[in-house]
Amino acid sequence: MWNRDPQPVLFTLIALGLLVAVIVVTRMLARARSGAAELSRKNRELATLREITAIVSSAAPGEEIFARLFDTLRHALPVRALAAVSYEEDPDGQALVAFGGEVTLERRSFLDWLAAQKDLESPFVAASPIPHVANGPNRDLVLNPRFAHQVLLPLQTPAVIAGVLIAESDDPSLVMPQTLQELSVVSDHVALALQDRNLRRQMQAVNERLQERAEMLQRILEVSNELKSHLTLEHLVQSIVQAVHHSLGYRVVVLSLFDSAENVFERRAQIGLDDTSPDVQPRKVPRDEIARWFGEHFRISKSYFVSHLDREEPGEDSGGVERRRRSTSVGAWHPNDLLFVPLTAGDQLVGTLQVDKPRSGLVPRIEDIQALEIFSNQAVTAIQSARAYETTRQMSVHDSLTEAFNHRYLQETLSREIARHERSRQPLALVMLDIDDFKKINDRWGHPVGDLVLQGLVEELTKGVREMDTVARYGGEEFSLILPETTPAKAWGVADRLRKRVAGRLFVAPQLDRALAITISLGLSCFPEDAVTKRALIDLADQALYQAKRSGKNCLVTASSLADLKTL
Ligand code: GH3
Ligand code: MG
Ligand code: MG
Repeated sequence: MWNRDPQPVLFTLIALGLLVAVIVVTRMLARARSGAAELSRKNRELATLREITAIVSSAAPGEEIFARLFDTLRHALPVRALAAVSYEEDPDGQALVAFGGEVTLERRSFLDWLAAQKDLESPFVAASPIPHVANGPNRDLVLNPRFAHQVLLPLQTPAVIAGVLIAESDDPSLVMPQTLQELSVVSDHVALALQDRNLRRQMQAVNERLQERAEMLQRILEVSNELKSHLTLEHLVQSIVQAVHHSLGYRVVVLSLFDSAENVFERRAQIGLDDTSPDVQPRKVPRDEIARWFGEHFRISKSYFVSHLDREEPGEDSGGVERRRRSTSVGAWHPNDLLFVPLTAGDQLVGTLQVDKPRSGLVPRIEDIQALEIFSNQAVTAIQSARAYETTRQMSVHDSLTEAFNHRYLQETLSREIARHERSRQPLALVMLDIDDFKKINDRWGHPVGDLVLQGLVEELTKGVREMDTVARYGGEEFSLILPETTPAKAWGVADRLRKRVAGRLFVAPQLDRALAITISLGLSCFPEDAVTKRALIDLADQALYQAKRSGKNCLVTASSLADLKTL
């Protein structure tokens, strides 16, 4: 009885088939729809990430970056209140704290909470930081009590812990796996960007320091080159203290050279000291008065920094080494602080450079001290070569037979003295003198005896004048005297006294059984009375000498009397 009519079965089958088809299509449609939703969610997520990347990699200040980041997050995710901490955002290494959205928590309370989170610094060093979820009013930190759900995300990369991000919401979907995953991606991103910013800032700081150092070295090079142009020690030491004063930034600079024979430091140049002040050290100080500071516990690099605290301590050398461990912490320079840069060549102590009153007002940093040392090295080289030059010069300005100054030195000194006296209008005298009948001495006793007479004459002349006067061999048996700051009347007195001294001296020679006597004739010209140029002064003195010879020798003639003669 049952399959008598096949039609109902067929209908049933068709209906079932249709139902299956409808179910399949509906399922496919649903899947397609959820695929599309997933796709658009992914797209949204990507767009948000792109936005966040742009925000966090911008050069804006930290506060601004977090404000913009919070804005983006609040639009993209179900978050209502946000807080973030970025470590080392500040130049002082202070954490930067930013709030966004509806935070009611006091900043002070947040900082207290942060300070108590010791574990924020270590447990997150997991390979991939996990968001911490907290729900309900009893959670540890409450940004806003109206919101029940909270996520705390460490901002961390494999290399650094950059900070922490906290989000709260009244929407439970905040703590759903989907949102947590999205927040994790965001926090990874922010952490990387913060790490980047920190690196960039550190690199910039390093660059600035390098730049500063390069500029300093450039300045040192310039002043070192300048030192090469000073050949006399006197000018050189002055230009060293000026260079340190102008280019390295110290208001007071004192250069002392060490005299090993006397075991003293002699102040040779200074800038910035009030020379009339009673505080100014004497020009020569015993070695130990300065060298007592050259102790290991005062040493920084190759220099010695003595803090005013160390100077004020009673019993300087008793203990306290640990306390005095050197550091060039940034601190204000104290008037009683001392800084010495020893000037050394190998293990030989050449002198010391003492600086005071840095223009920055701060205790110099190690790199400032090293700059001083580099410059000091150059200065020592220049000092050594100036000394070598002076030794050579010393040898080349003297006449080898008599040790009087030679003709070239006479010309240079006369030019220099005239220039000086032109400015000061101080008088100056020039004497030319010649041995009378010297040829006869040579002819009678031989040249070696003549030589001894020349040496004896120079000895007599040198003894008869002041330290500041110059005795020079003009040539042959003719000599010159330069008498600075001497009036015509005084010069006449000096010259005539010399004439008498020479005439009264007996010259002895080992090969002679008798002593010899000589006389000299002298000519005198005076600046500015007789002439104001070197050439004219020499010519007039020469003419006066010639006149002395004509007048019977062993006498003194002045240029002014020549003029009188002419007018007669
Ligand atoms: P007058 O009084 O006119 O100056 O006569 P004088 O003989 O001194 O002058 P003159 O110019 O005729 O002779 C100078 C002599 O000085 C000639 C020269 O041989 C001698 N003489 C120059 N230089 C030296 C020297 O270095 N050693 C010696 N022994 N003699 C020298
Ligand atoms: Mg002569
Ligand atoms: Mg002569």
